[in-house]
Amino acid sequence: RPLRRSFQTHPQAPVEGRYDPYNALVHLAPRTHHAARAESLKGESGALQGWSVSVKDNIATTDMPTSCSSQMLHGYTSPFDATAVCLLRQAGAQLIGKTNCDEFGMGSHNLHTVYGPVLNPASPDEYTMGNKSEGRQRHRAYHQPRVAGGSSGGAAASVRAGLARIALASDTGGSIRIPASHCGVWGLKPSYGLISRWGLVSYADSLDTLGLLGRAPHDLQLAFEVLNVRDEKDPSAVPDQARKAAREAAQARIASFPKGSLEGLRIGIPVEYFPSELEPQIIPPLHGVLSNLKQRGAVLKSISLNCVKPALGAYYVVASAEASSNLARYDGVRYGHQSTDKSGISEGQVHPYAHTRSEAFGEEVKRRILLGTHALTSSAFDNYFLQAQRVRLLVQRGFENAFRDVNVLLAAASSEESRKQTRPMQRSAGEGGEEGVDLIVGPATTSTAPTLASVLHPSAQKSTASRTSAYVQDVLTVPASLAGLPSLCAPAGVAQDGWPVGICLTAQWGHEETIWRVAKEIE
Ligand code: GLN
Repeated sequence: RPLRRSFQTHPQAPVEGRYDPYNALVHLAPRTHHAARAESLKGESGALQGWSVSVKDNIATTDMPTSCSSQMLHGYTSPFDATAVCLLRQAGAQLIGKTNCDEFGMGSHNLHTVYGPVLNPASPDEYTMGNKSEGRQRHRAYHQPRVAGGSSGGAAASVRAGLARIALASDTGGSIRIPASHCGVWGLKPSYGLISRWGLVSYADSLDTLGLLGRAPHDLQLAFEVLNVRDEKDPSAVPDQARKAAREAAQARIASFPKGSLEGLRIGIPVEYFPSELEPQIIPPLHGVLSNLKQRGAVLKSISLNCVKPALGAYYVVASAEASSNLARYDGVRYGHQSTDKSGISEGQVHPYAHTRSEAFGEEVKRRILLGTHALTSSAFDNYFLQAQRVRLLVQRGFENAFRDVNVLLAAASSEESRKQTRPMQRSAGEGGEEGVDLIVGPATTSTAPTLASVLHPSAQKSTASRTSAYVQDVLTVPASLAGLPSLCAPAGVAQDGWPVGICLTAQWGHEETIWRVAKEIE
């Protein structure tokens, strides 16, 4: 789509003849390198030959800095490429630059970044069909800049604005799906353990996944196939056997549908995915997609996943606890920012690391470190961390009881447990099984993209409320993250305010094939 001229005042250099007025790219690929690579690739034909790919700023690349959009890693360049980056390069893809994100992936609006917020390239103008005066009215009312969503806001914006064909990004609790929904593009968070995390700067290891954004599901599928290989360097990579078993189960299910139809597909719509915080204008576009699926033969079924509500609190405890441990490595000694302030150190009043960390971490990161450290202290451990882990188990069980096919990882763990004669994770009687569903569908976000002004300058007394409302944004995306399930955010159309709405399709672990099959129908 053409870029909006009015925004082309940004000092950013053009990327392949296009400008980045949205603040999506924070480091550009060296041009010389581009030319050399293009030359060396002549004649070769990889699966992604010539595709332009943007890479989130928390994924290691040797030819551009990896700063996690943080002052802490300002100017840092990794000595190695992430495995996913290597695979993309091998397949012939061209990296165009690194994308802006919330610092270390923490946030839902792409505001917590040293480079400044990302602007949402979607525009209600594109959808204005009415007469001129209506267009002008819409312009006044709706044309205020909106956030791109986070934490992968730069990734979504780079795709939406046509700067990159696909974007490589990370999703811990919704960071791909939320910006995909706000920018009106496709975004996949794959099953945990499929795509190598080697080279992804850790936020919360047990939840972190690498994923993709793009303008067509077919592009995402092709790139996913390139990246879906086991990597020895990633200790959480799932063995080939389990990958194969899950894939075959999904393929068998799809093969049972009559050709060109979704007859036999069972879709669950959890009532908990429609919380009171959900804006009513999100519903009609969702209805549109669901009735389309119904027309193609899918059976829609209302289900209950009562683990959804407590999932948000559990996610923030688990993610912050892991973050507080992961971010301990930024001490200003081995790499990253190092403070020159020596005050109070020799007197023993200040720890040598304190100045470095106070100066270089942003407010949101500090908040997470404090929360996570507290949750891990001996006095809070049982009430917070342990409790959150219990909720996580309930979330996994909730999904397991809802799906028709079993989770091959849990089934393997369960048989191992029963061998040891401990309590296995089992399905509750009467749930799941043939009565279960193949796909769980719900909105991706509780609202369309908020205006930049509303999130940047909330009124003083409302500022705590607006902080928590940023966390509430994740209520619809964290359940799949806690359970490690694949989830695709698909554009569902636009809301009444003219801004995009996303719908999330969540499948059983390793059943990406089911997602691609359904995506094809709603494209
Ligand atoms: N908004 C969530 C958080 O801040 C999710 C971020 C992510 O997925 N990286 O933790």
